[in-house]
Amino acid sequence: MSELSITRLNSSQDDFKEQLEKILAWESVSDVKVNHIVDEILAEVKLNGDAAVVNYTNRFDLTSVTTMAELELTKERLAQALDTLPEDQRSALEQAAQRIRQYHEKQKSDSWQYTEADGTMLGQKVTPLDRVGLYVPGGKAAYPSSVLMNAIPAHVAGVKEIIMVVPTPHGELNQLVLAAASLAGVDRVFTIGGAQAVAALAYGTETVPKVDKIVGPGNIFVATAKRAVFGVVGIDMIAGPSEILVICDGKTDPDWVAMDLFSQAEHDEDAQSILVTPDADFIDKVETSIRRLLPTMERKEIIEVSLRNRAALILVKDMEQAIEISNSIAPEHLELSVENPEELLPLVRHAGAIFMGRHTAEALGDYCAGPNHVLPTSGTARFSSPLGVYDFQKRSSLIMFSADGASKTGKIASVLARGEGLTAHARSAEYRIKD
Ligand code: NAD
Repeated sequence: MSELSITRLNSSQDDFKEQLEKILAWESVSDVKVNHIVDEILAEVKLNGDAAVVNYTNRFDLTSVTTMAELELTKERLAQALDTLPEDQRSALEQAAQRIRQYHEKQKSDSWQYTEADGTMLGQKVTPLDRVGLYVPGGKAAYPSSVLMNAIPAHVAGVKEIIMVVPTPHGELNQLVLAAASLAGVDRVFTIGGAQAVAALAYGTETVPKVDKIVGPGNIFVATAKRAVFGVVGIDMIAGPSEILVICDGKTDPDWVAMDLFSQAEHDEDAQSILVTPDADFIDKVETSIRRLLPTMERKEIIEVSLRNRAALILVKDMEQAIEISNSIAPEHLELSVENPEELLPLVRHAGAIFMGRHTAEALGDYCAGPNHVLPTSGTARFSSPLGVYDFQKRSSLIMFSADGASKTGKIASVLARGEGLTAHARSAEYRIKD
């Protein structure tokens, strides 16, 4: 691995900003060819429903089914997967689910209202979504943790029906994924994936019910399809490649930091791993650890490409500057690998999840810490939040005027409506004005 070279940047370089931007640049979902394929799949599923989904599933997932019924798994089948799991896996899954549920219970928001002196009542009514679709990726790997992270918040929110889709290449079912679906309270599972699954959920077919919102990560075909059906249904976000940014004071074991960088790099070649530290020697130490540990990794090829193309080891003046740079990147995962992370926390403004202290490996957050692992990527933590219960609840405004309230407030509305030239609005308010 001696030929592996990782970009080193120094914040005192004149061209630091340009160099950093080069590393951060990632072309999001905008491939013309993919757009074309996805448009065709969406139109075909909209027109031909089940038959189109069956065709695409046979073509892309190399199955040989003739009806949609063959692509649905019953609740009994899911429960059986849970019952027959090896004990250690079942226990780990149950403990992870319990921690995720406990955390998300705190996110539930309730309806509220208040009454003004004249008897007018105003408020907000919170309602769970009726039916949601969970996309669980399954093309190249299986993700039971994604099932828990998507389904549990929906369940906690009180969603009436949770429909899950997951592709099963060659028809091979992953028992952990099915068991997780059973544990998380999924109602129906279809073994379909890609743009055809997104289309089935968005438009509905004879067998797959139309949902109100589609959540969950996926590859470029899934992301492009989600973006295209937004408006017909709600979506959570468009997820880009995984990212980790570690801020370290130079006193953490360099092997720990190297492995934390690997833990995101192993997701895929486009994943991004960045170390920011004021300690120049520590950069050398981490690079030495990377070279020593990389050959021992099962997914070394993926990690190597990711590190070569997208990683950076950044030397900064001090910890304040480290945070400033991190804020400008708004990473999906931020590790504060320092002695007193609470001291730095007030300075952190933009990050999907903040892992505080040397012992808090980001990997724990991926599986079982409790908070959601579906997080904003590609700088979108500047304006968005982790997936949560709030994504499965919506709010309606409540307005109930008393006669006195309608009279008093009607005068304000009347003036504003006449100012806008909207006479019906004005008269509607004026009818209710007393005297
Ligand atoms: P996937 O389920 O997203 O995609 C598989 C589907 O893609 C197939 O069923 C097929 O329908 C479609 N497809 C493949 N090639 C196609 C083609 N040429 N034309 C049309 N459709 C085609 O599974 P995946 O491919 O393994 O990708 C999963 C992605 O999700 C990865 O990028 C992974 O990093 C990401 N992921 C993210 C998170 C997160 O929390 N952010 C978690 C897990 C996975």
